[in-house]
Amino acid sequence: MTSHIDNILAAARIHCDTVIKPQVNAWNAAAVWPRAASDQAAALGLTGLYCPPELGGQGLSLGDGIRVYEELGKGDGAYAFALSMHNICTYALCGFGTEGFKAAWARDLTSGRKLANFALSEPQSGSDPSRMLTRARINGDGTWTISGAKAWVSLADEADVYFTVVKTTDAPGHKDMAMIAIPKDTPGLSFGPLYDTPSYQFLPMAEMYLNEVTVSEENIILPVGQGLQGSLMAIDIARVSIASGCCGLMEAALDTALAYANNRKMFGATNLDLDGIQWMLGEVATELEASRLLYRAAANALGTPDGSLMAAHAKRFVPDAALKAVNTCTQVLGGSGLLAPYGMDRLSRLAQMLRIVDGTTEISRVVIGRALKKRAAGLTPLPVPKGFGEE
Ligand SMILES: Cc1cc2nc3c(=O)[nH]c(=O)nc-3n(C[C@H](O)[C@H](O)[C@H](O)COP(=O)(O)OP(=O)(O)OC[C@H]3O[C@@H](n4cnc5c(N)ncnc54)[C@H](O)[C@@H]3O)c2cc1C
Repeated sequence: MTSHIDNILAAARIHCDTVIKPQVNAWNAAAVWPRAASDQAAALGLTGLYCPPELGGQGLSLGDGIRVYEELGKGDGAYAFALSMHNICTYALCGFGTEGFKAAWARDLTSGRKLANFALSEPQSGSDPSRMLTRARINGDGTWTISGAKAWVSLADEADVYFTVVKTTDAPGHKDMAMIAIPKDTPGLSFGPLYDTPSYQFLPMAEMYLNEVTVSEENIILPVGQGLQGSLMAIDIARVSIASGCCGLMEAALDTALAYANNRKMFGATNLDLDGIQWMLGEVATELEASRLLYRAAANALGTPDGSLMAAHAKRFVPDAALKAVNTCTQVLGGSGLLAPYGMDRLSRLAQMLRIVDGTTEISRVVIGRALKKRAAGLTPLPVPKGFGEE
């Protein structure tokens, strides 16, 4: 008997083969979010992965549900990324939202009738959220009035609600941060012009402006004091989701290279008969297997004390491996690797994008570095040889 996750993964695979792969170039040419496609994904259960069935979700664990992005990533990493962000917001709502907001929004989000996204970054604060300028004023009647500007908001003007991280005072640090959901039609919320993003033009991205936007306290997802910590937890899930999508991307690049090299005649045989080519693609295959093991271990660690570190390992390793894999596979195609129909350029740009979003590779190294410092502090110091400047 197949399990629920097997059915969901099979549905994601079919969605990828029948909807994403045949249409992604047309979506990019149209430069419009393919809402009909995300509606189809929603009908398959892919927009409420981690929420309980009583709220319309699939009730999957993070460890299982995150594997969906590997399937979607075989078609397109940006599409997989956008759905992963929607699922993370929906998870945050189902797990931490107020009863009132859940009653109003949970079923619309789990069913995909409405889409959600996350707004943390600002023009002056990407890697360093403590430089955030968006402020929420808590009014006497409990409502919150928010002003500021967010940057890099994916699904800009397309999502129906934005899970927005704000500061509630001017004090430095993150103790006053909170996350509050702001529906798109709230007066005072607007978007700047869409960013010009080659290779994933269908994913609308823009700055989001908040001009004295007032929302009910029911919209609070993470109360004051838990905004950064909760957002970092969401980002851990996002980092592992990206690593999952990257595995799909690597598989797509590898399959393109294999299908081409096995058919390209040279030296009395095929390109794939050359040892050198087999070794190049063999390395890609090994890194794909390693990446898969790593992101799945990280997905299972989410929510445990090792979750953040494992997410950082996955986000540090897998997108780099994906970019390297796409470059190798492009090289295997020779000049054809640079022709648009083979799609390698798109995969390469997507891999680079996935190295940046939701915490860059360097920020993952910072997280890993801090963990190594902690580990070092627990070790018996080794003596430094005499004359090496020990004080
Ligand atoms: C396609 C895409 C979609 C996105 N979608 C969203 C979204 O929906 N919502 C949202 O809130 N954000 C979103 N982002 C923003 C994304 O999370 C940020 O771009 C990312 O966090 C990096 O911030 P930055 O671009 O400001 O780079 P910066 O923070 O300016 O970093 C510049 C460089 O400095 C490096 N660096 C920074 N700190 C250190 C350090 N301590 N040590 C070494 N190097 C360091 C970085 O790695 C990078 O190479 C999106 C970004 C992209 C590209």
